[in-house]
Amino acid sequence: MEEFRYISLFKFQKVPIYAHWSLCIIMLFVVVLSFQYSFIFVSVISILAIMLIHELGHLLLANKLGLKTYRINLYLIHASCERHLSNSEYENHLVAWGGVLAQAVVFVPSLLFFHIFINDLPDYLLISLFFLGHVSLLTALFNLLPLPYFDGSSCWKALPLFFKKKYYKKM
Ligand SMILES: [Zn+2]
Repeated sequence: MEEFRYISLFKFQKVPIYAHWSLCIIMLFVVVLSFQYSFIFVSVISILAIMLIHELGHLLLANKLGLKTYRINLYLIHASCERHLSNSEYENHLVAWGGVLAQAVVFVPSLLFFHIFINDLPDYLLISLFFLGHVSLLTALFNLLPLPYFDGSSCWKALPLFFKKKYYKKM
């Protein structure tokens, strides 16, 4: 029953990526609106790209630690990455860094490109770079706040565990 609520998009490193039905309906509206307002289409695709890049970051870091990711779900304003939890508390908190790190890999060059080529690039590319740069940086910072449901509620806990591991290794 669960599967009827999602549309399968593609696979990344054998992990299926799904879009929730609510997102698909909104995308239909966006496509219709984009005939008149193309910036809406570019903006929405850029936001989806940020969400996907974020979740792929979790996936790649989980893979690196040997933790299996089952699926990635894209919703209207958020996404989720379902994965196997490690027995190690440190590894679980470390995977929480994957999302913002992947965003940083994209927002740093996007910010640079935006400001260097602001007078030379067409509008649709500038809009896209604005989202992948400025908006992505803001959402990454917001996501690092130590609040429930945010990565910040988990990722910062990796730091003391990292130094604890290092300390015990030395002994
Ligand atoms: Zn995340």
